[in-house]
Amino acid sequence: MEPLRWRLMALLPLVASFLLFYFNYYFKSSASECSLLPHNHYWIVSKRIVTPKGIISGAVEVNGGNIISVVKEDDWRGNARSKSVLDYGEAVVMPGLIDVHAHLDDPGRTDWEGFPSGTRAAAAGGITTLIDMPLNSFPSTVSEETFKLKLNAAEGRIYVNVGFWGGLVPENAFNASALEGLLRAGVLGLKSFMCPSGINDFPMTNASHIKEGLSSLAKYKRPLLVHAEIPQEPEDYVKGESGADDVRSYSTYLKTRPASWEEAAIRELLAVTIDTRSGGSAEGAHLHVVHLSDARSSLNLIKEAKKRGDSITVETCPHYLAFSAEEIQNGDTRFKCSPPIRDAANKKQLWEALLDGHIDMLSSDHSPSVPELKLFDDGDFLRAWGGISSLQFVLPVTWSFGRNYGVTLEQLVSWWSEKPAKLAGQDLKGAIAPGYHADIVVWDPEEEFDVNDNHPIYLKHPSISAYMGSRLSGKVLATFVTGNLVYEDGKHAPAACGVPILAR
Ligand SMILES: [Zn+2]
Repeated sequence: MEPLRWRLMALLPLVASFLLFYFNYYFKSSASECSLLPHNHYWIVSKRIVTPKGIISGAVEVNGGNIISVVKEDDWRGNARSKSVLDYGEAVVMPGLIDVHAHLDDPGRTDWEGFPSGTRAAAAGGITTLIDMPLNSFPSTVSEETFKLKLNAAEGRIYVNVGFWGGLVPENAFNASALEGLLRAGVLGLKSFMCPSGINDFPMTNASHIKEGLSSLAKYKRPLLVHAEIPQEPEDYVKGESGADDVRSYSTYLKTRPASWEEAAIRELLAVTIDTRSGGSAEGAHLHVVHLSDARSSLNLIKEAKKRGDSITVETCPHYLAFSAEEIQNGDTRFKCSPPIRDAANKKQLWEALLDGHIDMLSSDHSPSVPELKLFDDGDFLRAWGGISSLQFVLPVTWSFGRNYGVTLEQLVSWWSEKPAKLAGQDLKGAIAPGYHADIVVWDPEEEFDVNDNHPIYLKHPSISAYMGSRLSGKVLATFVTGNLVYEDGKHAPAACGVPILAR
């Protein structure tokens, strides 16, 4: 026996050198697979580059993942002979979109979406950073431990950069050390619901939970995002008095969630956001109202709070700007979301508020499920899963519908990049400027396309998307994430080289 063991021992260095070789090979090859470009120092050239100083014709120099310089055409000509020039002609070059509100459902519900499909769809849509919500994954991200599970799930499986919101729930709201553990682990802020979330392990909070949450967040200078709806009518509002109401009719659903739910929630929130004013007990914390649908009294309340100095912002989503209740067909539960899509006059007011700056930014609230939960056979709006699937199309949707209101490229950048970067605490994102991360989208506002089965859709379940069947303007040509060309012309870089974004 002795001689055999010795002979095996002699093989060890050989085995070790083999392993070393394969590790080297693996890591080197995967690094080059992060990008569709063979080099990391190059120039992006275009006649329409959207910078904080206006739209210029010129070039953006990228090296090692950062923007090194931005120059106008006349100053650029000297370098034009360089080999590493990507000339996009008339196409628009602007900061990649930062989607502060997406549900990728990973881990635990990857049959709904998952990091790989969700982030590939993001890349194809010009989104370079997305912030994942703490719910619809299982378990919900409400503690340091569950946050680690989410980070593990994201490892090596994300094609764009992904940050994370943690959950503020009754279980952790009065436990400052648990909340701070979650914040120290790197979530960019917290999210809570003032109505049932639809997910059992993510219960709703009330104003006193939110007050507590804000005081923990104040220390870390991070925001609280709130789903602002409080149920006003009894649960049996529809079923009780009007059994005749058709559950397949969108108007039935709309009646179950009137604007008064949003108004009531915001009224309660404003009683606690007083603390976020300068000199207040939660100074440093910030409250962000997600997916506002009611452009009337709810929005007026937010305007007043801003005026009196509360630290508060508000987002709305493309589906509230693209669709109106009147157009939604019986049984078409692709359009069910909460708060609900309201009437056409409300939609117009949302656009006006966005253009006036009263609504600060946009987010997708991409919230898919398996198609079965949409109950397409029954078309039952009351029982179907609520959530719009949209991630890949938010840029062309905003542009296609916004053009009627005279939306400019600079406004798109403000709503989709600059303000979201600020909310998520990402100082070096959201602009095409020297020193910023090279997170860039190149797109053609004039090119139209049909969203149908012939169009490459990277979402896990294209059939549930509310945009199937639409004709949109604004085709994404290329997406750069920290200098890596991760998507171009219908093709993704082979490796998932996005990184998790952790707060520090
Ligand atoms: Zn959501």
